Amino acid sequence: MSDCIFCKIVKREIPSEVVYENEFIFAFKDIHPKAPIHILVVPKKHISTFNDITSEDIPLYGEIIKAIQKITKDLNIADSGYRVLVNVNKDGGQVIYHLHVHILGGKPFKFEEKGE
Ligand code: AMP
Ligand code: ZN
Repeated sequence: MSDCIFCKIVKREIPSEVVYENEFIFAFKDIHPKAPIHILVVPKKHISTFNDITSEDIPLYGEIIKAIQKITKDLNIADSGYRVLVNVNKDGGQVIYHLHVHILGGKPFKFEEKGE
């Protein structure tokens, strides 16, 4: 989509700190990191939300998983652990409507019911 900020990042029309890229996937550092390691993994194809992933896109989501496994291994957090997060729509806290998976790591997290 022409007015989508993440499509522009994928096309390198807007600069980002690229962590990983292949035919299907683009991964870059979050501009406002919420953990020592905070990376966004996006499909190059514009998909608005997690809800919009179709059966056809399941292999593409598999590529996201493979990218997350590679990135976390390369950054040495695969074994110590990390968090993957997808915010969906308003109540999920989604701000940018191009599907992205957050990788958060470099510190321990607690799963708290009322936590951010
Ligand atoms: P979400 O709330 O899941 O939609 O998250 C959007 C994320 O994108 C936030 O964590 C932002 O800090 C991040 N973000 C917004 N603009 C940029 C940008 N130009 N480069 C990198 N990350 C960005
Ligand atoms: Zn987009």
